[in-house]
Amino acid sequence: MKAYLGIDVGSVSTDLALIDEKGDVITSVYIRTQGQPIRAVQNGMELLKRDMPKDVEIAGAGTTGSGRKLASLIIGADIVKNEITAHAVAATHIRPDVRTIFEIGGQDSKIIILRDGIVTDFAMNTVCAAGTGSFLDQQAHRLNIPIEEFGDMALKARETVRIAGRCTVFAESDMIHKQQLGYSLPDIINGLCEALVRNYLNNVGKGKDIQEPILFQGGVAANKGIKAAFERALGKKVIVPEYHGVMGAIGAALLAKDAVKNKSTNFKGFKVTEFSYKTNGFDCDGCPNMCEVVEFIQNDVVVARWGDKCGKWSNSTNPKPHAEIHHMVQG
Ligand code: SF4
Repeated sequence: MKAYLGIDVGSVSTDLALIDEKGDVITSVYIRTQGQPIRAVQNGMELLKRDMPKDVEIAGAGTTGSGRKLASLIIGADIVKNEITAHAVAATHIRPDVRTIFEIGGQDSKIIILRDGIVTDFAMNTVCAAGTGSFLDQQAHRLNIPIEEFGDMALKARETVRIAGRCTVFAESDMIHKQQLGYSLPDIINGLCEALVRNYLNNVGKGKDIQEPILFQGGVAANKGIKAAFERALGKKVIVPEYHGVMGAIGAALLAKDAVKNKSTNFKGFKVTEFSYKTNGFDCDGCPNMCEVVEFIQNDVVVARWGDKCGKWSNSTNPKPHAEIHHMVQG
């Protein structure tokens, strides 16, 4: 069976998705990146190999996310695209008429506006935690409630409690205050969900023309309380796709499927899980630009470099062992 692999390497999680010729998901993997994107990709590949049907032949591979370049070098990707494109491609595959995508992950969030299948506007937040999953994680930890139970608890709320959630620090003190006033936990948790939604809509959603159909993607989409809070705030229906947590990876796999039409794949195979990889950096003193060049090393051989403004290093067609490059730089 022919299949296409997509990998989304983010700062919090690394997601892999395998799709078939129709674009349906065969299997997916979600693991924590934990500051080690190379290791995360290799571990993810191992898990994918273990879980996928034995007759799968990978006919194309794509990467996305902040670590897309590294992941591409590891696996031999046929296409490398940013997260906005990958999420939009995955969403339009599920709902060709989608007009708005909300994406909330552990440490960032984004909104994508589409019209007739084309991205017309987007915004990203990578700075403020108050509109991302980490806001809820912190409060769940403080209340000693597993984050998985947050959504169901929020749906049990009887009264509306407004938590001042513009910032995680204020939210915490206001939540304590509301607890002291005797509000129930479901009421307070629902208030936190509404605070996150307010933050999101006032930050990445500010000034955006939010129209249905709206798809809600990212890890936080599993939280029913947030979905309900969005629907109340907007007076619009919000759809959570089945594979909401790995939509970036699905988008990368769909892009790969398209990229390998009439050509063979660059995918290196699952042997890459056994290779050793590392990155090195050095300052080039070839001119006053003093570029910080990064080199990617596979089994002690430099296979790629980037960061040079003039192409002196990245255009090299004959990669040399990194020790030799350092000698050249220093010399
Ligand atoms: S890589 Fe090129 S532009 Fe950058 S410092 Fe070296 S010579 Fe100058």
